[in-house]
Amino acid sequence: MPPGGRYLAKEMSALHQLPQFEPGSEPAPQTVRLDASGPSRVSQPILLSYYDALFAAHGPQHWWPGRTPFEVIVGAILTQNTSWTNVERCIENLRREKLLTPRGIETVAPARLARLIRSSGYFRQKAKKLKTFVRFLREAYHGSLTKMFDTSTAILRERLLEVHGIGPETADSILLYAGKHPVFVVDAYSRRILERHELTEAKHSYEHIRQLFENSLPRSVALYNEFHALIVHTGKHYCRARNPRCGECALNSLLPGRIAGAS
Ligand code: SF4
Repeated sequence: MPPGGRYLAKEMSALHQLPQFEPGSEPAPQTVRLDASGPSRVSQPILLSYYDALFAAHGPQHWWPGRTPFEVIVGAILTQNTSWTNVERCIENLRREKLLTPRGIETVAPARLARLIRSSGYFRQKAKKLKTFVRFLREAYHGSLTKMFDTSTAILRERLLEVHGIGPETADSILLYAGKHPVFVVDAYSRRILERHELTEAKHSYEHIRQLFENSLPRSVALYNEFHALIVHTGKHYCRARNPRCGECALNSLLPGRIAGAS
């Protein structure tokens, strides 16, 4: 996943006064029950206290680093299973070759595209995924991202998930960071933090955790954007798979028990 960058930097600067609601947004219920697996400990005040602690410690993350919505989409596909540093090189290659457009990706020879994105790993599969996405864009929306993002969130999410190579995390990254649709992006870091804080369990699905966030937070693109970025920062630098740095972490006071191996 990407580190901080340029895209959305302005929008983020006003977020430090949360909780706040976007015009027309509905406050979420104070407590949510998610499914038959039992009541959740998660409520709006709890999740907002996580957000507040992270934002106070780390400030705005300026996500997503991309100059255009299409660049964000390309980045979201290329960052699957690799670090953002590797993706940045691919984006630069595509930009230099003037291929960072839907038409550029659709018309470039597959072998050349694969060569240009080699550093992202799984480059042949990712070249196919990029080509599949731009074909979908042309066939479903005449190649227009504006038309695509004008589609309702639920319908567009369903359609994106039908495109080869786009799973839930990629679809939601595209919806939130490129299209500004209010969808919370779940990843391994959010899962790990929630599990360690006993707010969710390993058996819970991607959808379960996404709904947990969305049902217990105000429906706000800016909040979802910043919160996810702060979670990634925390997962990378503090809540590591091994030897988590709980003692230095902004969420330490919210931790219900000591984690094995934590410093
Ligand atoms: S590092 Fe420790 S305190 Fe921080 S999020 Fe992970 S489990 Fe919680």
